[in-house]
Amino acid sequence: MSDTTYRERLANLQDHAVWAALGDYPGGPRECKDKTVYSSSRLSAACGCTWAYKLSYEDRLPEESRALGSWRGTLTHRAIAKLHTEAAWEAVPEVFAIAEAQSLEELETDDKPWSKRDCGVKDVAEAAQESLVMVQAYAARNRPAALPEELRVKEIEAQGFMIVKHPRTKTCYRVSMTLDQIRGYYGNTLNVTDIKTGAQEPSQVFLARSKQFTIYGLGLKQGLFLTETGGLMPFKQYPANMTYLYLPNLIPYKRASTKQGVSYKAGDLRGTHEFPVIRTEAEYEKMSAEICRIIQIIRFKLFVRDDDDIRCKMCRHKTACEVGINARETDVDLANMSDLY
Ligand code: SF4
Repeated sequence: MSDTTYRERLANLQDHAVWAALGDYPGGPRECKDKTVYSSSRLSAACGCTWAYKLSYEDRLPEESRALGSWRGTLTHRAIAKLHTEAAWEAVPEVFAIAEAQSLEELETDDKPWSKRDCGVKDVAEAAQESLVMVQAYAARNRPAALPEELRVKEIEAQGFMIVKHPRTKTCYRVSMTLDQIRGYYGNTLNVTDIKTGAQEPSQVFLARSKQFTIYGLGLKQGLFLTETGGLMPFKQYPANMTYLYLPNLIPYKRASTKQGVSYKAGDLRGTHEFPVIRTEAEYEKMSAEICRIIQIIRFKLFVRDDDDIRCKMCRHKTACEVGINARETDVDLANMSDLY
């Protein structure tokens, strides 16, 4: 996603009629003094190292490198979305080929170096092959004929909007989000599914703490979602559960392996690919205050470096961060503190 597109999209969202529908009008029950739209990805980024957030979203530094894993992830998401929108379950290889051609074309116009040295044509071809395996395995399990009707995907890439009110100060903020999938669950309840293709399987601790999922669940209950015809639709319920759909576990092992004490033969899948994410109502209620706290960090530019071995190693602004490492205090801009309330 280019930075211009991101900013243009935000500018378009600021004037969207959805905000009035949610009560943000002069004297309205959810009037927001700050008309900025805070996307869930932006809020999730600020939940990690706020300095990395600053470099990405405030300084708008371009990424220093491109990662093969991200390319593979975009291709996989693109192909799966196409399968759903075109109901092309009988033409998986053909749909994948179109998505792959588009992703390869994007690669040709991107002249950043690869994050991993010596990444060549063969590596790209391998990543595309892995993506095809994930998409085929996904299609086999999620084609409508393979699922009871009540568990099927209802919405894909659902664009949602909500206004978050601080429980104590009553300050309101605008938040937008895009949910990979909203599915039916048992009875009349719902599931939110997020498709993941990263290098690491999620730990239970990670799933329990993930703010991204909590924001999604809150949005499903409080927000409005765009329909295909441009209308607005509420769901008015917390999801009964959410799913971290980790597709790399659908790529069979090439050779015998052991993971977390479990032995696998060549050709075996790598354990479950569906990780449930559950939140309580109390956790959702706390999230409103947490979102307001994160937004205040962004608004008042209270950014600090949060060194963490693993996070810094994978940080896309590592070099820029190291270059400015001595400017720590002077770079924290507190000029606008009078705005604090
Ligand atoms: S290198 Fe580490 S401290 Fe610096 S911005 Fe990235 S995550 Fe933050």
